[in-house]
Amino acid sequence: MKNNSHWLNWCRLCAKDDAKSNVKLQRSEQTCPQTWDNVLIGAIRKYFEVHMILEDEFSSVLCTECYTLISELIDFAEHVTKVQAIFEVKLKPICNWM
Ligand SMILES: [Zn+2]
Repeated sequence: MKNNSHWLNWCRLCAKDDAKSNVKLQRSEQTCPQTWDNVLIGAIRKYFEVHMILEDEFSSVLCTECYTLISELIDFAEHVTKVQAIFEVKLKPICNWM
């Protein structure tokens, strides 16, 4: 096995072994403003229950496909949250009637 295909360099979500384009997420303690890597790590924990916090022991690497997918998932989740707020406003008059 080549050095660059060590499992710590595999994508944490799909195990893709692409050392050239895989991205290592850097968790920082900074919470305001949040770094994008922290937002990604938070989303991965929320949606997949994968905890990418033990950087020294487990892979915190994503392939470009998963990186893009999670970024889109975050955008989509934000969109869904906004839509729910619209539905809540629309539902309120119905609830008051009952
Ligand atoms: Zn992947």
